[in-house]
Amino acid sequence: MSQNDVAQAGRFTNKSAGHYNRLSLRNGVSLNGLTRNPLDLEIFFQAALFFISQAGKDDFLDQETFLARLEFFRSHHAAWLAGTTEEIYEWMQGCGLVVLTDDGVRFTAPVSDEFETTDAVVEYWRELEGERVRRRHRVRAQLQAKNREVNAPKPMSTDPELDRRLMQEALRMAKLAYDNDEVPVGAVIAMDGNIVAAAMNEVVTRHDPTAHAEMLVIRKAAAMLGNERLNGATLYVTLEPCPMCAAACSLARLARVVWGADDPDCGGMRGAIDVAAKAHLNHRPEMTPGVRRAECEKILQDFFKAKRKKAQA
Ligand SMILES: [Zn+2]
Repeated sequence: MSQNDVAQAGRFTNKSAGHYNRLSLRNGVSLNGLTRNPLDLEIFFQAALFFISQAGKDDFLDQETFLARLEFFRSHHAAWLAGTTEEIYEWMQGCGLVVLTDDGVRFTAPVSDEFETTDAVVEYWRELEGERVRRRHRVRAQLQAKNREVNAPKPMSTDPELDRRLMQEALRMAKLAYDNDEVPVGAVIAMDGNIVAAAMNEVVTRHDPTAHAEMLVIRKAAAMLGNERLNGATLYVTLEPCPMCAAACSLARLARVVWGADDPDCGGMRGAIDVAAKAHLNHRPEMTPGVRRAECEKILQDFFKAKRKKAQA
């Protein structure tokens, strides 16, 4: 834009103030940057002159007063601009908005005739500043919300075939438990489809009431990975985890728990209780129930049927 265009710039109005507030959201922009849109530059100088001249009350100031007011404007109302007071002053002279005379600075551009008193101007700038702060907070809140959305865990892409294959491995562990005369529950933990640990129920063998397949496999996987957090890992277990194991799944930060048979009586994921929700645990694995359900149910039914038969005999 030519120097003449700025010199012809219109008066600072409420509309200009709105424009100025939008400009002030661009933190760190330079005067050169403002030239990309000539109106931006015009509005900036309008605002500066409006402030310095106290809304047109003054059309002439000694240089010291002029620079003091410009400095105040820059540091309070134009702190978003990357530029020095001297730089702004030079641009103003270069654009012909102000003329340096022997005894001071004369304004050449019309400023505003909307304000009656200096107090009104001060009050107006206070409101503008408040509006800018509110606006900045709004924009920041929007950005933070967007950021949270982007960083939120996305639903894992699941592969039903892979789930069936890995559940087959958990079933293999359940069969080992069966052969050891343990309640036949088996589990594996996989990362990116690869098994990192496998375990079976060993409560009787170990004389340990907490030696459920899930507890053992979580411990093994964490030791194996050298990390108490199993981020991104999936647990496959033949029976819905009990409340103890469901809590352990949350604590281990497992991404997903896949199970075969539901446990409506004792299930800790949803069957009897939803432990993660009830206890306000801050991590909750995704759930995929019912993978190889029939096979997982059958091995348990067979086990208890055989137990009953033995007891009757
Ligand atoms: Zn359990």
